[in-house]
Amino acid sequence: MMPIIPVSDANCQVNSWKNLLKNALTCPRELLASVGLTPAQLDFEIADSQSFKMRVPQPFIDKMQFGDPRDPLLLQVLSQAEEDITVAGYQADPLAETNSQQAGLLHKYHGRVLLILASACAVNCRYCFRRHFPYQEQQANGTQLAAAIEYIKATPSISEVILSGGDPLVLGDNAIGQLVKQLDNIPHLRRLRFHTRLPVVIPQRVTRALCKILKSSRLNASIVLHINHANEIDPLLHDACQQLLAANVRLYNQSVLLKNINDNSETLINLSEKLFDSGITPYYLHLLDKVQGAAHFDINADRAIDLVEQMRNHLPGYLVPRLARETPQQPAKTVIA
Ligand SMILES: *Cc1c(COP(=O)(O)O)cnc(C)c1O
Ligand code: SF4
Repeated sequence: MMPIIPVSDANCQVNSWKNLLKNALTCPRELLASVGLTPAQLDFEIADSQSFKMRVPQPFIDKMQFGDPRDPLLLQVLSQAEEDITVAGYQADPLAETNSQQAGLLHKYHGRVLLILASACAVNCRYCFRRHFPYQEQQANGTQLAAAIEYIKATPSISEVILSGGDPLVLGDNAIGQLVKQLDNIPHLRRLRFHTRLPVVIPQRVTRALCKILKSSRLNASIVLHINHANEIDPLLHDACQQLLAANVRLYNQSVLLKNINDNSETLINLSEKLFDSGITPYYLHLLDKVQGAAHFDINADRAIDLVEQMRNHLPGYLVPRLARETPQQPAKTVIA
């Protein structure tokens, strides 16, 4: 008789999201080599950023075009020398978030409160406005999280909690499950939202346990994904989205308009189409926040307006994202006509 072969934990763990997160590539040369490139093939100099380390998980690398030095996914994550050049008008904390808050909590939008749960992201996007953000100080520890929950309980005007970071899905399912349970018990809350890029860079993060937590919550759940290019949507991510939809989670997307990555109308139209194919509604298209080190990604507002106009001419209204920018101390994003 054949022995019953136990399902090997070791095998299952290789592709667990936690392993993929831990084993993210942090060396620019290694990343280049893994997509069949050498530094000499690039239009720019690569560099190790000391203040904002390169960090790219394998499932995201798998979506890059092998041997393409202008791959739009590669350009979002590969650290380059230009990041260290100081450009006038670009600041360390463009949204002035650092000193305005109680740790772990950001109540700048009416009716919505942001909980800063995690100190890190699975990927370090080079254009990120939080690239100089002192996460270690801003992230909620246990006591602060308890205080934040007390604040939400005591503030009936809050109807939505937005889990943010860093990336809130860096937290494990148990921690998220416990938090959701506490939020479920606050009667004036109606909605729970995640802003995350984790399922995009590690689709395996969408576990059955996570879907179960969201499905059984009393709150109306939504996830805003951050996808900038259609190539980020592969079958793995598509399937993860279907799991979330089956758990009654609404899916939205916000993108950042980025030079040489998605700053032309065909790319943006294709992105909207592919998002919708996977059950994701395009929501915001952001102008870059003027953060130090990201000036080389910037697209000016006139060009952005023109691009969105072209999208409107080719797509139904529900596939045209709102063009927006963040303004420090404003209670909402500024939507640009
Ligand atoms: C814009 C934004 C919000 C608030 O979004 P609304 O959809 O306007 O409520 C929350 N978190 C992040 C990260 C955002 O970019
Ligand atoms: S996932 Fe979002 S917060 Fe994290 S580095 Fe990328 S843009 Fe910044």
